[in-house]
Amino acid sequence: MSERVLVVNSGSSSLKYQVIDAADGSALAVGLVERIGGAGGGRITHTVDGEAHRSDVDVPDHGAAMAAMTAAFAEHGPDLDAVGLVAVGHRVVQGGARFGHSVEIDDDALAIIEELSDLAPLHNPANAAGIRVAREQFPDLPHVAVFDTAFHLTMPEVAHTYAIDREVAKQHRIRRYGFHGTSHAYVSREAARMLGKAPEDVNLIVMHLGNGASACAVRGGISVDTSMGLTPLEGLVMGTRSGDIDPAVVFHLSRTAGMSTDEIDDLLNKRSGVLGLSGRQDMRDLVEAAQAGDEAASLALEIYCYRLRKYVGAYTAALGRVDAIVFTAGIGENSPEVRAGALAGLDVLGIELDDAANEARSREARDIATPGSRVRVLVVPTNEELEIARQSIEVIGG
Ligand code: ADP
Repeated sequence: MSERVLVVNSGSSSLKYQVIDAADGSALAVGLVERIGGAGGGRITHTVDGEAHRSDVDVPDHGAAMAAMTAAFAEHGPDLDAVGLVAVGHRVVQGGARFGHSVEIDDDALAIIEELSDLAPLHNPANAAGIRVAREQFPDLPHVAVFDTAFHLTMPEVAHTYAIDREVAKQHRIRRYGFHGTSHAYVSREAARMLGKAPEDVNLIVMHLGNGASACAVRGGISVDTSMGLTPLEGLVMGTRSGDIDPAVVFHLSRTAGMSTDEIDDLLNKRSGVLGLSGRQDMRDLVEAAQAGDEAASLALEIYCYRLRKYVGAYTAALGRVDAIVFTAGIGENSPEVRAGALAGLDVLGIELDDAANEARSREARDIATPGSRVRVLVVPTNEELEIARQSIEVIGG
């Protein structure tokens, strides 16, 4: 049976898609429709065989974006009818306490995804819109939802429960859900393979460091703690998010600065993190500025790495035994400065980075610890689309 899956990531203003062969991991086409619903019209970039085809398109809504996608396949290939698609896999951000696994989407599942929108108002409505139009466009294929939260539903109560009034928490479904689960699942399985062990036999601390960033404590292949919480705001310092702060900062801003809830939400999610600290969001710019002597950039980088170091310590305590620290996503895969900063001084925990291996550039998965390091340090490129394709195949019974 073919294992080719159309993977769809439908956001509020963009639609990303890939046709992936889950058997060998190859992408037959990669595309992006941008500025959905934007005033100035949208744009599609459709890449096949390394060649990017760009054009302006009118995309007032997700239906139009999906139509632009199928038109691009018709014009530039591959032929969607001939490629042997067996499923459409959809990224869904919030699966709540309901979805601990990927599921085939029927009307009930879609209704639950929409109903979870109060927990992820920026994401689930857009994910649901993408599912709706894709089911119309591809009525004969099974559609599968793969949730960012699902991998973390294995967290024990002690890790996912906030110490607030239990009734209030229950009524409003307030608990830690965690995100980036698709990446943490993929990367931890790859890491186990690199260590030559079964996933059930390894304990890992996975650092997914992209624009958003989260750490995950993995015991025996399953998530037992993660740094993001009810929303992706908690935990590590990110490109534009503050990560952990005293919640009273919110009351203080409300009472003394007269800021509204939306203004504080915007401040902490979009104008904080390394951007708020230094005026730079991109880690490449930040490192460059820090190396050129910019003090705000240096401090931002230090704070970023210090937070990572604290989570390594915390998750070492939570796990007891750690086989490897695993770095992934844009920053984790590409920034030797951040990896070195995050692990500085942690030889006390048996973590010793090999400087030359850390500095060497590569796109491959690799071990960058010294031969004698008790805890291995791995860099593993993530591939969330491939994980969505694989899970889609699994769900439809391939
Ligand atoms: P997203 O969360 O949007 O998927 P990515 O995983 O692509 O993000 O990561 C984006 C981040 O990766 C940006 O902060 C970018 O600066 C950083 N990054 C990409 N390449 C490098 C590099 N060579 N060195 C340092 N940081 C990098």
